[in-house]
Amino acid sequence: MKFATKAIHAGVKPDPSTGAIMTPIYQTSTYVQERVGVNKGYEYSRTSNPTRSALESSLAALEGGKSGACFGSGLAAIDCLMKMLNPGDEVISTSDLYGGSYRLFNTIFAKYGIVIHYTSMQDLSNVEQLLNERTKMVWVETPTNPTMSIIDIAGLAKLVKNSNAILAVDNTFATPFVQRPLELGADVVMHSVTKYLGGHSDVVMGALVTSNDEIASEIYRIQNASGAICGPQDAFLVLRGVKTLHLRMERHCANGLKVAEFLSSHPAVAEVCYPGLPTHPGHDIAKSQMNGYTGMVSFSLLDDTTEAAHSLLSRCRLFALAESLGGVESLIGHPASMTHASIPKEERLKAGIRDSLIRLSVGIEDIDDILIDLEHALN
Ligand SMILES: *Cc1c(COP(=O)(O)O)cnc(C)c1O
Repeated sequence: MKFATKAIHAGVKPDPSTGAIMTPIYQTSTYVQERVGVNKGYEYSRTSNPTRSALESSLAALEGGKSGACFGSGLAAIDCLMKMLNPGDEVISTSDLYGGSYRLFNTIFAKYGIVIHYTSMQDLSNVEQLLNERTKMVWVETPTNPTMSIIDIAGLAKLVKNSNAILAVDNTFATPFVQRPLELGADVVMHSVTKYLGGHSDVVMGALVTSNDEIASEIYRIQNASGAICGPQDAFLVLRGVKTLHLRMERHCANGLKVAEFLSSHPAVAEVCYPGLPTHPGHDIAKSQMNGYTGMVSFSLLDDTTEAAHSLLSRCRLFALAESLGGVESLIGHPASMTHASIPKEERLKAGIRDSLIRLSVGIEDIDDILIDLEHALN
């Protein structure tokens, strides 16, 4: 089955009791058993729920994986994966990382004796140097947030294959429409479903997908034991959202590219971070591992000050000032004073997050209106 067909049909079957074409919201905590030990496959909704199961199968199919698991948030999905590790185990992570992942690693799991190394993965030899027999996980985000750097997933997978570690990829920014890490050799894919997969800014949810049965059974064991599941209402909303994932992503990618090109030729703009531009240092790798370049665009101003960035934000009329990303509506944010405010300035600058850096989540409105808004805000 091709991607668009999977987006609409995978995991979803007519409801066995009524024939309803849409999977119902099974708003139930428990299931009546015929007699002890005999049931219809469901016992208690923490363990499994038919609405959640349909979404888990759908997301697994979209990533080209065998097993999916959904959680109450993206961070709950990462939390589940990290709980597979033991004290003394080591993780190698990208240094430019979603702030919440960084906080989870450093303030929760470090306390339990898990050692996290951060390194830039644009140069894979950095990872090679850190890999040792205690390394149990390599954690990657590509494109990275908010500078849109690209990491070579297949190259990294080759390196990790010869070790004791698994390769986990946070595929939130790309979505399986744009990039499928399992097909490039990764062991697990993680999503903040909150973003493009849900796509309508109305749900907070996370997911893990794998083709490895051993990893899958650990994920389900921890999902049930720790209990950070999503509810059936949210699963239903996302089942509805993913049916248009391919159409939304095509438009996000087309609008993203046009915005990046517009900004590149604007006299007030210093630098544009978008892997779809031939000038982007990761463009060739992006071209080979991605199908389109998403709607995420960052740029900095010639007047590289917080004031200039704030003043631009205040002139936007279509772009809404908000954290998060991946919804149908265009959002704008200032990482240095919003998502990345807790990072010390020196480290922030080292990561390429300048004072004036602005991050756009380009929505699927008409491109003319999007460009008019940016033109107005830049003048
Ligand atoms: C938002 C986000 C997360 C965290 O997901 P939540 O659903 O907010 O818990 C993780 N990784 C990336 C790249 C994100 O953008």
